[in-house]
Amino acid sequence: MKERIRRVALVAGYPVLLTAALVTTALVSDGLAEGAAAGTNPALAAGIVLVPFTIILALLERAMPFTKRWAARSETVRVDLMHTAVSGVLVAPTVRAVLLALIVGTLAAPSSSLWPSEAPLMARAALAIVVADLGAYAGHRFMHATALGWRLHAVHHSASSLYVLAAARSHPFNAMLTLSLEGLPLILLGVSPEALALATAFKGANGLLQHANLDLRPGRLSWLVATSDVHRWHHSTNRDESNTNFGNATMLWDHVFGTFSLPARRPPVEVGIGGSPIPESYLAHLATPFTLHDREPDATGPKL
Ligand SMILES: [Zn+2]
Repeated sequence: MKERIRRVALVAGYPVLLTAALVTTALVSDGLAEGAAAGTNPALAAGIVLVPFTIILALLERAMPFTKRWAARSETVRVDLMHTAVSGVLVAPTVRAVLLALIVGTLAAPSSSLWPSEAPLMARAALAIVVADLGAYAGHRFMHATALGWRLHAVHHSASSLYVLAAARSHPFNAMLTLSLEGLPLILLGVSPEALALATAFKGANGLLQHANLDLRPGRLSWLVATSDVHRWHHSTNRDESNTNFGNATMLWDHVFGTFSLPARRPPVEVGIGGSPIPESYLAHLATPFTLHDREPDATGPKL
């Protein structure tokens, strides 16, 4: 019986956790809209949900780890908490608030809105996720294919173990670039705030799940969603393997541009940069755009 429950948890765990985060965000978003917080940034609902979601995943990592080798050291956790505070808590809401102000400005001019406002909320949220992910995909490819881009992105790949807080390990410049490229197409379309809230929750919750050290088997869901199964290959120390699966939230654009990869064997446990690693300190991470000189752009990887 215990083994059966474990097997159900392995297969159903990923979609159940992701759906739970989305449903909770929708409920919180409704509550905010009806209460005194009406008119606040719609991404606030996602932010409120992602804090307890992170704690739940951290607890689950202890119960069912993908590999015990990825148990995070306290030094790594300290650095990633700094990344969470700066890139997650400070930079992301600031960029989103600026984008939202632009969105409101766009909506104020109805003739400029291409957004299908009458469509069901789930369809609008799915459209927002797919459109935002195209911007994120383009930025991610740029950061792997050019020396300049790699200077911004190397910090994210410096993690030698994947666990829930590794999702936030991102240089602030990397975060600003990705968030802007995700948000700008949505502004041009005139996205509705409630769709933006759900899309933000999906990206945030999936980002935590895809980095979590959890033994989950999302199976065919990985053809659609950027799950841990596909994202671990992107973090491989082997550059042939890491030059795949650039989608942040979905695999759609990887299918379109031929970078999708889901080998039948178990994803790698050797993750990171290899060679001369980036020092494990937040200040060293902040300095990488100016100090990183020792890796050439991916000459063998897919071209832009
Ligand atoms: Zn990458």
